[in-house]
Amino acid sequence: MTGATQTTMDTTALKRDIYGLFINGESILSESGRTMNTYNPATGEKLAEVAKASSVDADQAVAAARHAFENGKWKKYPIGKRAKVLHKIADIMRERFNEIVELEILDTGKSLAAAQGQVTQAIENFEFYAGAIVGHRGTVNPMPGQFHNYTEKEPVGVCAQIIPWNYPIMMASWKIAPAIAVGCSIVVKPASLTPLTAIVLGEICSKAGVPAGVINIVPGSGSEVGNYLVEHLDVDKVAFTGSTPIGKDIMASASETLKRVTLELGGKSPNLVFEDADIDAAIAGSLFGIFYNTGQSCEARSRLYVHENVYEEFLHKFVEKTKQLKLGNPFDEGTHIGAIIDENQLKVIDGYVKSAKEDGAEILAGGKPAMIEGFENGYWYEPTVISGVTHEMTVVKEEIFGPVVIIMPFKEEKEAIKLANDTEYGLGSAIWSTNDARIKRVGGAIRAGIVMVNCPFSAFPGTPFGGYKQSGFGRELCIETLDLYTETKSILSYYGQRPINPFGI
Ligand code: NAP
Ligand code: MG
Repeated sequence: MTGATQTTMDTTALKRDIYGLFINGESILSESGRTMNTYNPATGEKLAEVAKASSVDADQAVAAARHAFENGKWKKYPIGKRAKVLHKIADIMRERFNEIVELEILDTGKSLAAAQGQVTQAIENFEFYAGAIVGHRGTVNPMPGQFHNYTEKEPVGVCAQIIPWNYPIMMASWKIAPAIAVGCSIVVKPASLTPLTAIVLGEICSKAGVPAGVINIVPGSGSEVGNYLVEHLDVDKVAFTGSTPIGKDIMASASETLKRVTLELGGKSPNLVFEDADIDAAIAGSLFGIFYNTGQSCEARSRLYVHENVYEEFLHKFVEKTKQLKLGNPFDEGTHIGAIIDENQLKVIDGYVKSAKEDGAEILAGGKPAMIEGFENGYWYEPTVISGVTHEMTVVKEEIFGPVVIIMPFKEEKEAIKLANDTEYGLGSAIWSTNDARIKRVGGAIRAGIVMVNCPFSAFPGTPFGGYKQSGFGRELCIETLDLYTETKSILSYYGQRPINPFGI
């Protein structure tokens, strides 16, 4: 049997040997019969088999989404009813919190604390949008005389949502929650390396009452299925989170059909420590800023600039603490740093560190793959601190996406701002200072979508997340995201006594 006619698979347990595509409310295998494996990066072992969508499956998913959008009831529900379903999704996720956390850890190799935090944020994001849509509405606009104008926010239609491997459940929630909140139908393409929690989230949404066809999940190859969705005539919008080069390709392809596009792309975020900073807080926050999620974060603060007057003290303590970070069993509560996503990424990271050495930089901590007892076949990299760099070096310019930070001293505020902005990216940034006027000045001068002030965290549900420059455009996680999933329709009416006859004939 093929496609949507296929026998529905059992989705009771979240941990399974095989995971299906989720199309039109059913968990099914690919019409092609193809599957792919997903691995546990901490051990290198095969974790599960996953149905691998073909373009025929993707087409079926788009057709299901289109049908649900045009003929279904979801977008016609009163807002309160949709909000209730979003709350129900959050409730089921809370009930199954430990199972989702376990699955996320197994599929990504991330630490328990990181996975718990991210699943929590995914849940809270559904709750946030359940509330946010209640206030998302059109406007009544000033008009002369007998005219009246108001606007309606209508769902944009069928959205393709393509997500990366570094925060699978969180990225899925950032995409799914606002889109379905406003009444869109969606086709989600998870990353091939980490498809599991997005698949189970789709199933949970269905159990919570999202009608068939509104949410479809199609794990499969980016160049095949992802690209197919971007080019599909029946897709109205593409929301993409991933690397800058693929984002550029997507923007070019989407222009053929003038799809709406939002892009959350890469980063090389600066972290500025001024001489008036609380140094211990700055050290703790800077450690978290780069090494959280094993450095595999788009907003990882990977360029650390410290005022020369406090540079030596900061450097000494920062390096000492970096060496204390504990790598190991992701399920251990004491583990700070989880695994690298796969062998390929491990090689990429090591390649960057080697290039830094060849360019004459100095490795102050780490600098090579790590051997972890009991996890010898997994992918691990030592938290790495690099000094003695110049701004021309590859390690300073390019996104590494691993636990590697460069550190440089600066003399003056102006120089710090110049260094911070000397990048093609503009996603995150951090300022450590106790001088309010300086914080305001520097924060205003940094060209980035996010400025963290004496704060190690970049986002909570409700706070806008997105980039300047080549970090993309559009903001997620916030109220304005709802605008990016809606079209504004202007309704202009005439209520005059006499008919209008502008041509006079
Ligand atoms: P990626 O290689 O760009 O892949 C992202 C997604 O796009 C995956 O689902 C991938 O599928 C798919 N894809 C690949 N080629 C495609 C194509 N030609 N057309 C359509 N889709 C395609 O990025 P990644 O390596 O997974 O993730 C790391 C990157 O994401 C980093 O650059 C990071 O900074 C960025 N990121 C940004 C944010 C943000 O909010 N700004 C958040 C997280 C991550 P496959 O998995 O099958 O290749
Ligand atoms: Mg995996």
